[in-house]
Amino acid sequence: MASQEIENLASALARLPGLGPRSARRAVLWLVKHRETALKQVLHALGAVQDKLVECHTCGNVDTQNPCSICADPKRDAKSICVVEDVADLWALDRARLFTGKYHVLGGRLSALDGVRPEDLAIDSLLGRVEEGGVDEVVLAMNATLEGQTTAHYIAERLEKRPVRITQLAHGLPVGGELDYLDEGTLAQALRARRPLS
Ligand SMILES: [Zn+2]
Repeated sequence: MASQEIENLASALARLPGLGPRSARRAVLWLVKHRETALKQVLHALGAVQDKLVECHTCGNVDTQNPCSICADPKRDAKSICVVEDVADLWALDRARLFTGKYHVLGGRLSALDGVRPEDLAIDSLLGRVEEGGVDEVVLAMNATLEGQTTAHYIAERLEKRPVRITQLAHGLPVGGELDYLDEGTLAQALRARRPLS
């Protein structure tokens, strides 16, 4: 059996998404073996992120600068805002490198079951960004789940009287599918075939 320190590291890593206790132990073993190179590098990277991590006040993205690198990028088209549930969805969509506009992170989805109400999500700040003007299109990129689609319809209703085009990702996303788990090709396809919300 390993020492308490090593046990603690393994159980901390086991809580990461995608890592169970067994792969956490494997990761610890690997880090111990490569302590002079990889362990130092991981520690340094974690420290740098921890020192600088901030939430973007405009879009809700998590980055090491506020406004985030996407909001601050003048090459991004500010006329188009893609609304996502979580930061993971933003990162997944942005990896597909097809959408050139800006994003807005809601911080979840409406859920009667979990007691998530509109005021718990960053919906007012989205309306605020649209109200400021200069936005032509709002792309609703919610997950293809019942709650995701309920959220999309709620936002579409709130935006109804604003002079913006509202589109959503094309179906073809697997039902019940979470954006974060899709490959970039499927995501790119869904984004390309986005259509007006009916
Ligand atoms: Zn931002």
